[in-house]
Amino acid sequence: MSAEILVREFTVLTIFPQMFPGPLGFGVVGRAFADERLVLDVRDLRAWADPPHRQVDDETFGGGAGMVLKPEPLFRAVEAIRAETPPRSLHVVLLDPGGRRFDQAAARELAGYERLVLICGRYEGVDERVRRRLVDEELSIGDYVLCGGELAAMVVVEATARLAPGVVGRAESVAEESFEASLLDHPHYTRPAEFAGLEVPEVLRSGHHEQIESWRRQAALDRTRRQRPDLLARAVTEDDARKGENR
Ligand code: SAM
Repeated sequence: MSAEILVREFTVLTIFPQMFPGPLGFGVVGRAFADERLVLDVRDLRAWADPPHRQVDDETFGGGAGMVLKPEPLFRAVEAIRAETPPRSLHVVLLDPGGRRFDQAAARELAGYERLVLICGRYEGVDERVRRRLVDEELSIGDYVLCGGELAAMVVVEATARLAPGVVGRAESVAEESFEASLLDHPHYTRPAEFAGLEVPEVLRSGHHEQIESWRRQAALDRTRRQRPDLLARAVTEDDARKGENR
């Protein structure tokens, strides 16, 4: 959780570059890209496909309905990007429903690389040689199938970009969010103090910082226990494993 955050550049390989920046053009992340504190570099895969038709897909060997993204344009693109980036700062990700589940811990890991390359599949996906030879890892945003990797890439970019220093106003507000420290976030209230017959808890209006902190910690625990007991169970297991290693 305390690993250094180095991320600065996101390169997206897609056959639909027009889909970007889309939602990534808004809010704190949109501002970070607009001010060039972070770089969103969206590349059209067709630029690496053979002229004159620039075909990026082909039929699947063995027969079957869907098309598959050809390996050559993806290999050319990633090899060109690798050649322009020091190896240890680069991480190449394939968005794929069969990949490791993307979560807050994965976002923190990704934020430890200076440049991320995100490959967006389409159709039946990418030629198997891409998965086997070209990428550092595969990530899935959940157990469902989208039509392409673009929305998944946007999710990964936004969750990772907002961890970069200065993107979200106060560093603490990121550290206190859901999934950091294996807890969901505590409830938040704003004015008015009473609304829809519900009152803001007295302690939050007391100005007593220690009591507010302790109320928030307890409320976060209660909410996690109620809504995501699996997070607490996992935290306990990880804690036990760490203690075992130190014995
Ligand atoms: N034939 C593939 C399968 O059954 O696993 C599904 C291919 S899907 C229609 C096309 C592309 O969308 C994938 O190559 C991937 O890039 C992207 N995609 C779909 N669902 C995704 C998910 N849950 N997470 C990440 N990427 C996904």
